[in-house]
Amino acid sequence: MRVTFPHMGNMYIPLRAMLQCLGLDVVVPPPSSKKTLSLGVKHSPEFACLPLKLNVGNFIEAGELGADTVIMAGGCGPCRFGYYAQIEQAILKDIGRAMDFIVLEPPDRNIAELLTKIKRIAGKKSWWDIFQAVRFGYRKAKAVDEIERASFRLRPRELVVGATDAAYRKALALIDDTCTWDGLNCAAEKARAVFTEVAIDDQRQVIKVGLVGEIYTLLEPFSNQNLERCVGHLGAEIDRSIYLSEWVNNHLFGGLLKGDRKRKDVCAAAHPYLRHFVGGHGQETIGTAVLYARAGLDGLIQLFPFTCMPEIVAESILPDVSSDLGIPSLTLIMDEQSGEAGMLTRLEAFVDLLEQKREIAMQQPSVG
Ligand code: SF4
Repeated sequence: MRVTFPHMGNMYIPLRAMLQCLGLDVVVPPPSSKKTLSLGVKHSPEFACLPLKLNVGNFIEAGELGADTVIMAGGCGPCRFGYYAQIEQAILKDIGRAMDFIVLEPPDRNIAELLTKIKRIAGKKSWWDIFQAVRFGYRKAKAVDEIERASFRLRPRELVVGATDAAYRKALALIDDTCTWDGLNCAAEKARAVFTEVAIDDQRQVIKVGLVGEIYTLLEPFSNQNLERCVGHLGAEIDRSIYLSEWVNNHLFGGLLKGDRKRKDVCAAAHPYLRHFVGGHGQETIGTAVLYARAGLDGLIQLFPFTCMPEIVAESILPDVSSDLGIPSLTLIMDEQSGEAGMLTRLEAFVDLLEQKREIAMQQPSVG
């Protein structure tokens, strides 16, 4: 069995580590690119959402490298993610590139079925080995998230344009290259040191923007035209609403691990505007938007793929959050026609607006 999985940002780093700990032969698809997208677009239904098209492209490219089995998450609820795997498998079969699929459904649906599938993946490995592999992958996901957060803070303050990007790539490679616990702890230390070498202006006043929306478009830079880098280079610091390790903690570990944003708190914040699950991360988008406004962030950017149903619901509610809590928002919808130049123009205008708003607020005499 030669396994592969869809790309979603830096998820390949912890996932490859975890699967290799289980003794599997792992084929990581090439990073998503225009070729990946055109393969996906060619073979997928026109109105499928962008992540499905990129997944199909990833699997075709991984198949060309020898992968024969796809491991991916399943889903449920009122959006299309629940039948992604079935559609993707049918598409690959139709075009003569059939692969086996192992679909891991959320643990609250059918725990016995999930455990059987995990055993199928892990072969003769014991449950203790599986636990250690998951733990190691999770620790890598934490290290990757720490690197992403550091890059968000440094990019708008860097003195040499591009220095943060270089440090970011170096730090990720350090985490990716290690396969032991000692090595990982040492790599995490070195990754922190790499960022301390980036020269910054710590006194620079930067605006802060909260990034909310659909998980895949938030995490996969190819699908969002490298939005995080663009916003950082425009001089704004990002706070992203979803990190991989947080998602794992909230959805697979029941939110038991301390230190992360808890899904129940986010949903409670959304309650005045949206009281029930609408699929995907629609409810979280509203909840985090409220929390960002309360925390005094300057603006919100909502990001999602064209036709994404949960985020369309959230998009219709965000103007109320914006006007009630005084936080401007910008919605960007991504599909295969999206171009970086168009997005950059809109981001520049939005960042300008936020800077002007902040300047005006600073000139107002304080009351009381
Ligand atoms: S959350 Fe949106 S993009 Fe993701 S599967 Fe559902 S509809 Fe598609």
